[in-house]
Amino acid sequence: MFEYAPAPESRDIVDIRPSYGLFINGEWVDPLGEGRDKTVNPASEEVLAEVAVAGEADVDRAVQAARKAFAVWSAMPGSERAKYIFRIARIIQERARELAVLESLDNGKPIRESRDVDLPLVAAHFFYYAGWADKLSYAGFGPSPQPLGVAGQVIPWNFPLLMLAWKIAPALACGNTVVLKPAETTPLTALAFAEICRQADLPPGVVNIVTGAGETGAALVAHPDVDKVAFTGSTEVGRLIARSVAGSRKKLTLELGGKAANIVFEDAALDQAVEGIVNGIFFNQGHVCCAGSRLLVQESVAEELLDALKRRLSTLRLGDPLDKNTDIGAINSAAQLAKIRELSEAGEAEGAERWSPACPIPDKGFWFPPTIFTGVAQSHRIAREEIFGPVLSVLTFRTPAEAVEKANNTPYGLSAGVWTEKGSLMLWMASRLRAGVVWSNTFNKFDPTSPFGGYKESGYGREGGRHGLEAYLAV
Ligand code: NAP
Ligand code: MG
Repeated sequence: MFEYAPAPESRDIVDIRPSYGLFINGEWVDPLGEGRDKTVNPASEEVLAEVAVAGEADVDRAVQAARKAFAVWSAMPGSERAKYIFRIARIIQERARELAVLESLDNGKPIRESRDVDLPLVAAHFFYYAGWADKLSYAGFGPSPQPLGVAGQVIPWNFPLLMLAWKIAPALACGNTVVLKPAETTPLTALAFAEICRQADLPPGVVNIVTGAGETGAALVAHPDVDKVAFTGSTEVGRLIARSVAGSRKKLTLELGGKAANIVFEDAALDQAVEGIVNGIFFNQGHVCCAGSRLLVQESVAEELLDALKRRLSTLRLGDPLDKNTDIGAINSAAQLAKIRELSEAGEAEGAERWSPACPIPDKGFWFPPTIFTGVAQSHRIAREEIFGPVLSVLTFRTPAEAVEKANNTPYGLSAGVWTEKGSLMLWMASRLRAGVVWSNTFNKFDPTSPFGGYKESGYGREGGRHGLEAYLAV
């Protein structure tokens, strides 16, 4: 095998300010309180910037700005709103390389992924919803669907700019205005997006970005003048938010955790399945809500598949996220690394067998090697709880009925994958799996035209596609 020479993407292309304020009413403003936070590069633990922490009064200012802008934005013809959203999409494309580097610096994900997956999808999302802005009367929600008002949106750190796009693009297309809180550990691309809103001449107050931790999110969700709450994050925080919003007139969508089954039948193209399994759980360090974290493999091919999978994992390169050869980047935070370690130790303690390829770990930063657990029972914590890291639990089955039963034996229901050459088996499985998305002979494929969302504790409401408009319209 050839050695790979380092191929680092230059970070000179990004311009990170030492300190950021809040983006309210189209201006950068200082927070009213003293709160300041730092965001670090998880691959080096280097501090990237200081970021404002928005308190209740700051959130209130942002909501008021959004309320004022709503009068202007919602009255604008859809064809005019579309122009702004198209403009935002084009600026994102023009600045894609810079935004990809910034995302990899702040989040730790490989540049190959931020450049080839995140950024193209971000732009595609804005293009797609720009196209809807003047066609809402034909979307199937009545002849003249109306926006809801001010949307309070809270997003996680795993796909910072992509989750922002999923939230902001449909909200704006439908005529709503937005206050968005990015995750504490990954605020930088949301702050760059604020600049893009200025570059696009978006009317002030249509998009407001308030940084901070959980308390800032809680203040936004609880604000009485917010009409719509959209949250992506953990099921635990989702529960708190559902409680906070209950009894109010606020409309709520929740995109929460997952524990997806990736199911491989004996007739599947196994080499292709191996690639799909790797993409399913090791893409984005496994920090993916719809990750294929439970591999269900038919017993007759389990040994062959596992041998091939282990061979494949031995070729994955872990390290510098900005190196174009890197497959596995850094874990986003020390806290997330601790959670992955704790669950992996529980896996061993409960009797599953742990395997990782030989994998040098950098001295600084937060890292976890790609890991497989075999001999996993359905009762093990690693089969039940979301690890949100590069850890795969392998279980086996004999019949399709057993595969369905095991796949559905989870409190979650966000996604699933089925690998088989038989179309009839594929459809039979898809109709029985309790999951918002079922992929066939592929995994982790995203497209702005296709709705995404969960069953059970994975949340409710759909994002993406025509369905995604419903969450932002009074229907
Ligand atoms: P999290 O702790 O729930 O945080 C998500 C966001 O909520 C962050 O911005 C967080 O701020 C904020 N927050 C924390 N406490 C809050 C509160 N009491 N009220 C309002 N906001 C609050 O989740 P995470 O660890 O960042 O993300 C991982 C989870 O997200 C996983 O479970 C994953 O499955 C899920 N996820 C789901 C989807 C989906 O589409 N279904 C997509 C991506 C991720 P801080 O950052 O300051 O804590
Ligand atoms: Mg960071």
